[in-house]
Amino acid sequence: MKERLNEIKEEALEQIQSAVDEKTLQDVRVYFLGKKGQITEVLKGMGKLSKEERPVIGQLANQIRDEISEALETKKTKLEQAALEQQLEEEAVDVTLPGRPVQAGGPHLLRKVIREIEDLFTSMGYSVAEGPEVETDFYNFESLNLPKNHPARDMQDTFFITKELLMRTQTSPVQARTLRKHEGQGPVKIICPGKVYRRDTDDATHSHQFTQIEGLYVDENIRMSDLKGTLNVFAKHMFGEDRAIRLRPSFFPFTEPSVEMDISCKICQGEGCSVCKGSGWIEILGAGMVHPNVLEMAGFDSNQYKGFAFGMGPERIAMLKYGVEDIRHFYTNDIRFLKQFHGV
Ligand SMILES: [Zn+2]
Repeated sequence: MKERLNEIKEEALEQIQSAVDEKTLQDVRVYFLGKKGQITEVLKGMGKLSKEERPVIGQLANQIRDEISEALETKKTKLEQAALEQQLEEEAVDVTLPGRPVQAGGPHLLRKVIREIEDLFTSMGYSVAEGPEVETDFYNFESLNLPKNHPARDMQDTFFITKELLMRTQTSPVQARTLRKHEGQGPVKIICPGKVYRRDTDDATHSHQFTQIEGLYVDENIRMSDLKGTLNVFAKHMFGEDRAIRLRPSFFPFTEPSVEMDISCKICQGEGCSVCKGSGWIEILGAGMVHPNVLEMAGFDSNQYKGFAFGMGPERIAMLKYGVEDIRHFYTNDIRFLKQFHGV
């Protein structure tokens, strides 16, 4: 039995030595030290031994059991340490590598142009007014001198939500709303930036959704020359001091008289080129003196108060100023396009 026990010890230590993971160690423990393990098997034969031999064998068995247990523990610690070292090595961070640069975003080109226009007009005493994009027929059309069945409504076909609710076609309803809030008391001096909607088919110059900025100045003694002076400041600020403006007669239902403003073409200096279609002028915006009906409908006395209004598309301003040839570039979020205007 002594010999058998020593054999078991040799065998166990050898297996422990060559074990490569904790699972194997566990198997070794069960195989040699378990309730049905090798040592227990041997000790079953104790009954055949003499009184003197029994304690000797028992002691030896205990000693071997201890040695195997200890060897198991030692090996287990070694394996754990090796695993930890391997993990550390695999997860090692090379702190000398350069960091990944943070991609800093910036405002969209349209947002920048709108902000620039806002800044200019607020510096001239205007405040920024906003209103709902889902409008009533009354504010979008009727209060702006566009009664139902007015032919000019055709130019502003839009998305109707109900018969009386629609996606606004212009930011002018914000003017109408602001005027009403003033209850017939001037001055009113606002610009209204925001998104507007038309039932247009998208192409290089049309979009079913675009932005607009309108301006309104109502007070006593407001004249056409005030409008012209304001637009002149705007054109020079946005397009350069050397730009000239001209006003051409036009028609809008909510202004009388109405004008369109052109600026002189920068490319050809007025000589005529493909950008200005040979005319030397480029159309920028529409404007006019607020129609007395609009003032009266908003509760203002049109004999006491006069006003001017103008409206423009920031897309058009941005396209002319930065040479963007397709309006759809503003909305498709192509990072290659947007990136070009990071610094402007
Ligand atoms: Zn030109």
